[in-house]
Amino acid sequence: MNNHVSVLEISGNALEHNLQYFKNRLHQKTKILAVVKAFGYGSDANKVAYFLKDKVDYFAVAYAHEGTSLRKTKITTPILVLHPQIQNFEEITRNQLEPSIYNLKTLNAFLTHAQEKGINSYPIHLKFNTGLNRLGFSKDNIPKIMEIICSTKHVKIKSILSHLAASEDNNERDFTLNQLQNFKEIINQIYDYLDYTPMAHTLNTSGVINYPEAQFDMVRIGIGLYGFGNNKKETSQLKNSHILKSIISQIHIVKKGETVGYNRAFKAFKNTTIATIPIGHADGLSRRLGKGKGHITIHNQRAPIIGNVCMDMIMVDITNIKCTEGDHVFIFKTQEDILTISSISETISYEILTLISQRIKRILIC
Ligand SMILES: *Cc1c(COP(=O)(O)O)cnc(C)c1O
Repeated sequence: MNNHVSVLEISGNALEHNLQYFKNRLHQKTKILAVVKAFGYGSDANKVAYFLKDKVDYFAVAYAHEGTSLRKTKITTPILVLHPQIQNFEEITRNQLEPSIYNLKTLNAFLTHAQEKGINSYPIHLKFNTGLNRLGFSKDNIPKIMEIICSTKHVKIKSILSHLAASEDNNERDFTLNQLQNFKEIINQIYDYLDYTPMAHTLNTSGVINYPEAQFDMVRIGIGLYGFGNNKKETSQLKNSHILKSIISQIHIVKKGETVGYNRAFKAFKNTTIATIPIGHADGLSRRLGKGKGHITIHNQRAPIIGNVCMDMIMVDITNIKCTEGDHVFIFKTQEDILTISSISETISYEILTLISQRIKRILIC
C-alpha cells in the first residue's frame, strides 16, 4: 500500500458538477465522451472512469494500454483510442477498444488484423485532419478510404472525427470556422457512400464553449471535466477536481543569517519560522516554484516556498502562520491555485495537472 502522506484528492462532486454544466449547454441528444487520457489528466483514469461510467456515453484515451487498464477496472463503456499504432491492434481487439484510424497504413493494417482474427463489423473511428496537422486522413483520401471500407465486412465506421487547433482562441475564429466547414464537407461526402450514418464529433472543451453549433452527435470533454474552461468566467462556473494535500513534517526556527536548503538559496534576514513539507520536484512540483515564487496554503494563509525545491521536500515560510507539525497543507486546492502555478511555470493548467507524479497517492472523494 502507498501510505505516502501527500495525497491527490479527486473530487467526484466536482466531476459530476462539471459534467452537468456541459450537459446543460448541449442538446439533450448530444452524446458525451469523457477524455481520461494521461491518468485522467494526472488524477486516476480508472477511478474517474469508474465514477463516471453510467453518466457518459464514451471514454477516450490516447494509447491502447490506457484503455486496457480501464477494461481491467470492469468498465464496459465504449472506449475510443485516439492514437493507436499498428502493433497495438491485437491488444485493442482483445479488450474491445475502438481505434481511431488516421491514415491508409493503419486502415489497411487494421483490416488485415480483423481478417486474420475473423472479426466482422468491428467499430472503428475515422480521424480527419482539418488544419491541426497532427493526425488524420486528408479529405482527398475519402474515395480511397471508402473504396476499401465498402468492400470489406470486417469493420464498420462508428464515427468520423476531427480536432480543432485553436478552439479556445477567439482571434482564430475564422480559422476554426473553416475547420468546421471542412469537417462538414468530409462527413457529408462519407455519408454519401454509406447506407448507415456514423456519428460525427469534433469539439473539445473550449469547442463546446465557443462553437456549440458544431456539437454534431457527440463532444469530447477533457479539461472541462476537471474544472477548467477557456477563460476566468467559464472556469468560475466549474469546480476543481484535483486537490493536492500534504502535511507539515517538521518546523524549524531559522536564525537571522542562517540559510535554508540546497545551495543555501534562502538566506534569513530576520528570525524565520519554516516548515518542511514532504513533496518535491519528483512529485511534479516544479523547481520554478522555489525561491519565493510559489506558495502553498496552510490554514487559509499563504506560505511562500523558500529556497530551492528539493526532489522530495519543500521548505515554506510560516513565520506569520499559526500551525504545528502534522497539520494539513494544500499545495493546490482551487483552480486559481493551479493557474498561479501554471503562470509561474510558464505553462498551462493541463501540464500542471498531468505532471503530478505517480508517487502521489490518489483517492476519490464523493
Ligand atoms: C485531449 C483531446 C481532447 C480533449 O481536449 P480538452 O481541451 O481537454 O477538452 C479532445 N479530443 C482529442 C483528439 C484530444 O486529443
